Amino acid sequence: MSNNCIFCKIVAGEIPARLVYQDQHLVVIEDINPQAPYHYLLVPRKHIRTTLDLTTADNELIGHVFQIAGKIAHDMGFAEDGFRIVNNCNDAGGQTVWHIHFHLLGGRDLTWPPG
Ligand code: AMP
Ligand code: ZN
Repeated sequence: MSNNCIFCKIVAGEIPARLVYQDQHLVVIEDINPQAPYHYLLVPRKHIRTTLDLTTADNELIGHVFQIAGKIAHDMGFAEDGFRIVNNCNDAGGQTVWHIHFHLLGGRDLTWPPG
């Protein structure tokens, strides 16, 4: 738990969020400002500041995040149409919350290149 980290507070249940999945490694919530019909955030329970702070000890965790993202896309019914998993890292990457998380976006045709 990192002080003043909004996602640590959501993980701890101190700030409400619309939870769609949780297990011992991560929580999945609805994004408060959705950019697609389906927009979820996969948030590891462990406070990791950015992708640059990952170590080999986190390899299994990140693999698990991707596996759960696919399961949620499947369960919500947009896996076959297609979806996107996004991790924004640092300022130019668009990161605004400094606790690693992965966006799962689906339910519409997503454009490329991204903004
Ligand atoms: P990023 O810009 O990649 O760091 O993504 C942060 C995301 O967190 C944004 O898409 C925000 O809309 C979302 N967000 C911020 N605060 C909350 C919150 N309290 N509950 C749900 N999503 C949030
Ligand atoms: Zn945190």
